[in-house]
Amino acid sequence: MRQLIDKLKANRVLSEDEFTELIEKASEEDREYLFSQSRELAGKYYGNGIYTRGLIEISNYCKNDCYYCGIRKSNEKASRYRLTEEEILSCCEVGYELGFRTFVMQGGEDGYYTDDRMAHIISRIRSAYPDCAITLSLGERSKESYQRFFDAGANRYLLRHETADEAHYKALHPQNLSAAHRKQCLFWLKEAGFQVGSGFMVGSPGQTARHLAKDLLFLKELGPQMVGIGPFIRHQDTPFAKYESGSMEQTLLMIGILRLMFPNILIPATTALGTIHPFGREKGVLAGANVVMPNLSPLDVRKKYMLYDNKISSGVEAAEGLADLEQRMEEIGYHLLVDRGDCKKE
Ligand code: SF4
Repeated sequence: MRQLIDKLKANRVLSEDEFTELIEKASEEDREYLFSQSRELAGKYYGNGIYTRGLIEISNYCKNDCYYCGIRKSNEKASRYRLTEEEILSCCEVGYELGFRTFVMQGGEDGYYTDDRMAHIISRIRSAYPDCAITLSLGERSKESYQRFFDAGANRYLLRHETADEAHYKALHPQNLSAAHRKQCLFWLKEAGFQVGSGFMVGSPGQTARHLAKDLLFLKELGPQMVGIGPFIRHQDTPFAKYESGSMEQTLLMIGILRLMFPNILIPATTALGTIHPFGREKGVLAGANVVMPNLSPLDVRKKYMLYDNKISSGVEAAEGLADLEQRMEEIGYHLLVDRGDCKKE
């Protein structure tokens, strides 16, 4: 297996069969070897610095019905909210004071945020915080929409592809959604000029090692600047309520593999990883991640953005808990940076 890991490090890609074998058969020892390599590569580009992003969850309304998601439109138990422009701006103000230089506006696919409304919000943040990056995570929109947001001053866009395999995609989403269209959106975002982030859930219902191998190969084709992955975690009020959650071990393995494939990109240690294990975030960093994304949303709405059960939004996961997060990073030999945190050039 070491040979495969060395080959991946040298070529930054493997064949579908080789990836499948690595994912299925890597032993504890192989994984430790892989992580030593992935940490070294992350260190080469980013030293021991970890970038922070201030996450603002602007709306939990969504027109979609993804089977795994706690804020899907059919979940009548979800208590819905959306932030006003002023509320979003005041989150940025608090975040800037705390040291965040990237704001991530994330939400369900909520028709309230028309192109006009969104472009207005983006341009206000852009003029108030010229030294900050603006990241959007607002799902699938038209090519024109993406271009407008970029022209208004947004820099980055996160849109996980979730699974690159069309049949698996159909098993996770209603029939009106397709992997092909999601991929198309990612390429539109690149054309518009965005730094693009994609990613997938690990351990989603029906997922096999071969699906994960295909996800990796799709990412190679896309050439993203960011990749966010986290374990699938079930939500009690969804059709997937009875499925087992994905494992931390497999998520960490995928982070390590991604770092070998893309030495210079931004890989977050995600909230989902911090949710399934108290030290999931630290373990993510030690597997090659270099970004954390504490929650800057107003306190009263945080519990409502419940994508999966028990999603954490307080303590070190909260922007106010930054000092604790800093301490936890220091305990593993890393430190948080006050920086926009763009993807380093090769
Ligand atoms: S995963 Fe995203 S698009 Fe799907 S229902 Fe949830 S918020 Fe909406």
